[in-house]
Amino acid sequence: MNNILREVINIVIRIELRQHVGAPCKPIVEIGKSVKKGELIAVPTGLGANIHSSVYGKVTSIDDTAINIEADEQQPEEYVKIQDTLTYLEAIEQAGVVGAGGAGFPTHVKLNTKLPGGTVIANAAECEPILEHNMKFMEEHPDIIVRGLKYMVEITGAAKGYIAIKPHHTKAVVALGKACKGEPNISLKYLPNIYPAGDERVIVREILGVELKPGALPLEANTVISNVETIKNVVAAIEDRRPVITKDITVAGRVHGAENVGRVFLDVPIGMPIEKYIEEAGGIIEPYGEIVLGGPFTGKHGEKDSPVVKTLGGILVSMPFPQTHKKLGIIVCECGAQEQRLKEIAAKMGAEVVAEERCKRMVEVNGRYRCDLPGICPGQASTVLKLKSQGAEAVLISNCED
Ligand code: SF4
Repeated sequence: MNNILREVINIVIRIELRQHVGAPCKPIVEIGKSVKKGELIAVPTGLGANIHSSVYGKVTSIDDTAINIEADEQQPEEYVKIQDTLTYLEAIEQAGVVGAGGAGFPTHVKLNTKLPGGTVIANAAECEPILEHNMKFMEEHPDIIVRGLKYMVEITGAAKGYIAIKPHHTKAVVALGKACKGEPNISLKYLPNIYPAGDERVIVREILGVELKPGALPLEANTVISNVETIKNVVAAIEDRRPVITKDITVAGRVHGAENVGRVFLDVPIGMPIEKYIEEAGGIIEPYGEIVLGGPFTGKHGEKDSPVVKTLGGILVSMPFPQTHKKLGIIVCECGAQEQRLKEIAAKMGAEVVAEERCKRMVEVNGRYRCDLPGICPGQASTVLKLKSQGAEAVLISNCED
């Protein structure tokens, strides 16, 4: 658990003040202050989660969005532990645990509920293609996921804990299966091999047989769902009093040494520039299109100096954008790139967006478009014809099916 990279010499790390759902945190350190690894450096002003330094170093600047820290040459493994707490939930809060699968919802808020007769589900789908760091962790440390689920079952008073995983991840399935042996309340449940099987409503439907309405939360099915890395961080907070100061990531795409199989880095210090891990994997293969932060479906544009944050999953280097210079129609879907992102990609292709449609399963709920039946995806032929009738010569589509 404590295999934190030590090579942070001569690096200024940038620890963002907003790495969670909610308002940015408020810094509680000043410029020039020496900080220790694990030291609390920013606190929430409302919904949010504590932020800690991931290195020993000196605060060089603070702006509206981040605290910059120049890392010391020496980076011992020891870290400042979170203070003693009376309950597991308080430990999770102190440690600043948030949804590590990308959502960033504060975990102490999510778990502050009672689920009599209900369930806690570990989301082990690792659904976005290419990403592999969750699988690697589960293959190597299945016992931690089982212990984490047991803590979460105890916190919520749930009856059972399930690990939702796709059966083709055989190594992780075997490892987790062994770790569940002798645990009467923890078991594996299988997800279909589709995208987006990791969507919470798909998990609730497939594992519990409950169809949640668009926009409804898993709580309505008497369950909470947490990504496996979030569960890893819950265990670290409770057992090691360790705050969230690292992130597991996958580097892939046009990167030497990571082109065909993604390269996984576990326990990367938060705030490190992502370029360090691209270089460590072997460096960018030129030419390339852009760096994507996250998975291929829902990731966003990043820069070489973008910092690692608590919700980062992937660092992907894309192929060069084909220069089509065509009139494009776009189809937006809840489980893929959103309208702005598709327009950004179209611009990089030198293309003009002349028409927009949504996947036909999208319905409006409280001013936001949601998928009616995630994972039960329709063909898009009629939508494509609509776009064509509006002048589109080609279609850029964010969904998974067509
Ligand atoms: S039905 Fe459409 S919006 Fe829903 S998951 Fe499938 S492609 Fe995405």
